[in-house]
Amino acid sequence: MATDTATSAPRETADDIREAAEAPAAPATIKGDYQPPAVDVPALTAILDGEYAEVRQLVRDNLVEHESILTDAEEMGFDEFRERVKEVVQELAATGQSAMGFPEEYGGAGDIGASIAAFETLALGDLSVLVKVGVQFGLFGGAVLQLGTKRHHDRYLEPLIKGELLGCFAMSEHGHGSNVQALETVATYDAEAGEFSISTTSEQGYKDWIGNAALHGEVAVVFAQLRVAGEDHGVHAFVVPIRVDGEAAPGVRIEDDGRKMGLNGVDNGKLWFDDARVPREALLNRFGDVDEDGVYSSPIESANRRFFTTIGTLVQGRVCVGGGGINAAKVAITIAVKYALRRRQFEATSEDVEDILLDYGQHQRRLLPLLARTYALHFAQEIVARETHDVFTGANTDEGDRRRLESRAAGTKALGTWHCTRTIQEGREACGGAGYLAANRFAALKADSDIFTTFEGDNTVLMQLVAKGLLTDYAGGFEDLDQLGMVRFVGGLAVETVVERTSVHKLFSALKDALPGGDAKWYEEAGLLDPDYQLAMLRFREEHMIGGVARRLKRGVDAGHNPGAVFSRAQDHVIGASHAHMERLVLEAFVDKVRSLPEGDERTALSLLCDLHALSVIESDRAWFMEHGRLTVQRSKAVTREVNALCRRIRPIAGELVDALAVPRAMLRADDLVGTD
Ligand SMILES: Cc1cc2nc3c(=O)[nH]c(=O)nc-3n(C[C@H](O)[C@H](O)[C@H](O)COP(=O)(O)OP(=O)(O)OC[C@H]3O[C@@H](n4cnc5c(N)ncnc54)[C@H](O)[C@@H]3O)c2cc1C
Repeated sequence: MATDTATSAPRETADDIREAAEAPAAPATIKGDYQPPAVDVPALTAILDGEYAEVRQLVRDNLVEHESILTDAEEMGFDEFRERVKEVVQELAATGQSAMGFPEEYGGAGDIGASIAAFETLALGDLSVLVKVGVQFGLFGGAVLQLGTKRHHDRYLEPLIKGELLGCFAMSEHGHGSNVQALETVATYDAEAGEFSISTTSEQGYKDWIGNAALHGEVAVVFAQLRVAGEDHGVHAFVVPIRVDGEAAPGVRIEDDGRKMGLNGVDNGKLWFDDARVPREALLNRFGDVDEDGVYSSPIESANRRFFTTIGTLVQGRVCVGGGGINAAKVAITIAVKYALRRRQFEATSEDVEDILLDYGQHQRRLLPLLARTYALHFAQEIVARETHDVFTGANTDEGDRRRLESRAAGTKALGTWHCTRTIQEGREACGGAGYLAANRFAALKADSDIFTTFEGDNTVLMQLVAKGLLTDYAGGFEDLDQLGMVRFVGGLAVETVVERTSVHKLFSALKDALPGGDAKWYEEAGLLDPDYQLAMLRFREEHMIGGVARRLKRGVDAGHNPGAVFSRAQDHVIGASHAHMERLVLEAFVDKVRSLPEGDERTALSLLCDLHALSVIESDRAWFMEHGRLTVQRSKAVTREVNALCRRIRPIAGELVDALAVPRAMLRADDLVGTD
């Protein structure tokens, strides 16, 4: 059986069709003894909302209050909609929902977990509003807070939290988006004037895609190479006025990026600097400073480590976008499942009434594993958000945990936003032509969320960051390593040493006696619905793949090849290992959540979803598991049968399961798809 990569559903071979024809017809709904759990929707929502239920409800209420923004997005002209989005962002700021992550003394709530929950929930509504909020409070505000010191906090935090001072986060350039270390904007210290002179130094070196730059931003946190007395100190950030009384500030040129595929309520623009002057104090000086005499100092000696530390402090933006993607997927899956519960096509099982779409096996196959994965990613994201809260509030000061968080945040952002794109596409198709109507939400969802896989770190580049963490085990000096450094590091060790040093190996070794899954026979006999079996499968794949990458890198380096070329050739394995690692973390999060709940219908429902998620993940890579002796042909077919059976078990509660995701009715719109009741 081959896999259709778009849906992870199997394509049938002639043998399969014959087998299926001989088998008794699968009931459209479960008959016999099966009693689906009686899901209490508010109780399940409470489990999903977790400790930030109140915050999430506040944001849902605010979204409903501003529901007209969804129609404004369709009906307003380009310029008018940008102004409307700005207005809504400022109104939301007045409710306090965007300030939760800032210190209390500046008007915030000092609760980073709450601010992430608020942002994620905002993704149930218009995504231009979400992204403008992200630019203003997450990127601009976050950079001032995390990279600046008291003088910057005192000056900027209060007005920016209130939405009175709008700003930008100007990191990306036309020439360099992912490779931030190679930026070509330069900040040269002029000791005589006590100022920095900021300039764009090449044709490709202008800032591009900068949110709030085209119209509304008055200042920008500009990332530039710092040069003091002829010496380069790497990328630092500066607060630079870009607009005064509505006109470009001296030394600054601004151009509008214009109409985009989506997110047209956000005014992205380009910025050029030509000897733009800012005082010495404009340097956000937490990790590097220049004194009055023009002497540079930093608490972090290595320039590479300083760079990665600087970037690492901005991880919250990534966590937020990942959560935003998962929540946007909730909107799509809710509409698609609700439609599938109402829409009828073809008299398949009776002569006089057409069947409901969700009673078709393939329709279940298309939607229910995506629903299960949405739940899985929600719980995985909950862990990343909690860890971010702990690290950034100082509740957790462990260096290793901080680095692990960076890696986990990168991987969860990638998986969450890829899932978003895939779910929206499948949801649209599952609604047929009706899904194409703007009023039914998919048009905006598709256009606006598409770029989530690219901004706040391109997903493929982020998955390489995950691999770096895996291969170096966040070892001392991890932050000093760029990609080539990492390859050399791995190449310089014995393969066994690399494998032994990986956090994954350490974890699994430490748990060896507690974890099942020793030999091939165990894998053959364990119950498919046993979470220990499912986890053992994903752990086996992960450890095996990391070992494979280490071997490839080492072999190439030992043979004297260029480390960059070695890495490039092994890149598919590198990304594969990161995927395997992240899938294991996601499943663990789901299994742990289910295990933490008291017995009851909600736990039973989540357990069904968890099984469906786990077996869908295994099924989608069953060729690999067969190649590596962890699935026989018979067992592989049994996995597929079990996925189908789980879909049928979940089908009767699919409506409750999407209702529990708690997308406000007003955010669904789509009256003709989901009904008005
Ligand atoms: C709507 C929008 C809003 C944005 N807002 C902001 C903002 O407010 N502030 C800001 O600073 N930036 C912003 N950005 C920029 C964004 O962060 C960058 O687009 C992003 O970092 C990717 O950079 P890039 O576009 O240069 O892509 P590139 O880095 O050129 O990547 C292009 C492709 O090459 C692949 N690739 C790159 N390197 C490698 C490698 N080593 N190995 C294998 N494949 C590789 C990537 O996976 C990708 O598919 C925004 C972008 C958009 C589109």
